[in-house]
Amino acid sequence: MKVDYSSKLFEQAKNYIPGGVNSPVRAFRAVGGTPIFVKRGLGSRILDVDGNEFIDFVCSWGPHIFGHLPKFVKNTIIEQLENGTSFGAPTIQEVRLAQLICELVPSIEMVRLVNSGTEATMSAIRLARAYTSREKIIKFAGCYHGHFDAFLVSAGSGALTFGVPNSPGVTVGVAKDTYIARYNDIDSVYRIVKENPNQIAAIIIEPVAGNMGVVPPKEGFLQKLKDMCTDEGILLVFDEVITGFRLAPGGAQELYGVVPDITTLGKIIGGGLPVGAFGGRKEIMELLAPTGPVYQAGTLSGNPIAVSAGLAVLKFIKENPSIYKSLEFKASLLEEGIKVNLSRFGKRFTLNRIGSMLTLFFTENEVTDLESALKSDTVLYASYFHKMLDRGIYLPCSQFEAMFISYAHTEDEIKFFVKTQFEVFKELFQ
Ligand SMILES: *Cc1c(COP(=O)(O)O)cnc(C)c1O
Repeated sequence: MKVDYSSKLFEQAKNYIPGGVNSPVRAFRAVGGTPIFVKRGLGSRILDVDGNEFIDFVCSWGPHIFGHLPKFVKNTIIEQLENGTSFGAPTIQEVRLAQLICELVPSIEMVRLVNSGTEATMSAIRLARAYTSREKIIKFAGCYHGHFDAFLVSAGSGALTFGVPNSPGVTVGVAKDTYIARYNDIDSVYRIVKENPNQIAAIIIEPVAGNMGVVPPKEGFLQKLKDMCTDEGILLVFDEVITGFRLAPGGAQELYGVVPDITTLGKIIGGGLPVGAFGGRKEIMELLAPTGPVYQAGTLSGNPIAVSAGLAVLKFIKENPSIYKSLEFKASLLEEGIKVNLSRFGKRFTLNRIGSMLTLFFTENEVTDLESALKSDTVLYASYFHKMLDRGIYLPCSQFEAMFISYAHTEDEIKFFVKTQFEVFKELFQ
């Protein structure tokens, strides 16, 4: 694999962009080496500026459920482009997208479109605070909800019950309003709620965690959260920025049968362009300006091109619900293959998979929360990553990110993955 031009570009980039990247994970810090600069993507493949081709299992970190540039998205974008790029005025497309989101996700009666997942979650929290007239929120260690201050918080030391900033620039005051619970540990949530009677506005959670690697909820965990929220007058926010339209047309809430008060969306609903959304019951959503007092806005929100791309994707999903069977089939094939490879080398590493999102954790412990995820051998992951990359397979450049399969991936590509992984395991373990 040649990385001459990528390396050169990376050196240039570092002069003008902090760390050479516009989002930190892209810099390959967790695995070392030079990030590849991507030139184009088509279907399941990406091509870098040095001419290397890869089978892409990152899929832009989730959006490309149909692979890169499916025809129906490309055509829609071209068609819309002819009409102009942005008006700052209402358009047909945003109404149709909102309508379709409400139809596919029954807990969403009304939705506001934004430009990113971060905007969706930060606005959802403001709304939940306004609705409940409470200020504090609970999040889970290992869940990621974007880079809003209130989420860049970690658990305080034993003596503290509230959170502390985990990034400079986040004020102690802001961090104090965020409490950190443990994923899959209902008692950890219960304790915080009991210690703060009538003060918790919202509990925000990834219903299937994807940002500490894939960690599914334990049986009954989400329902218990929901029951607690109902009892205590807390709003339950499902951050489905990854899982929305990934696991089912109605997201993780459809899969697990648990109904949140507010849902946040992103990634897939933009069809590869920047779109986010948050929605829920009408009585909550109508608190937003201009019907209500809660301010929220965006110059490019509902952008006609971005929204058209998202609309094309959601329409395709609605008309072809069988895609989830195909994704499940390919993902289970991959899971089986990986498990066979592991057993051939006597390794009992943990593979977590829900639908088309999965993570192979390099630890033999069960991974159910951040603490257990962190037991993974990240040095081993780094060499695994590079050996796979050298052989044409593009994986997430961190142990703690989900790997995605798209509708464009073929059975042959899955088999190629398994065969390649076997060769890599041979180098690593023999
Ligand atoms: C990616 C992600 C976000 C943030 O979305 P951006 O578009 O990157 O701002 C929020 N929540 C979850 C669960 C995510 O995976």
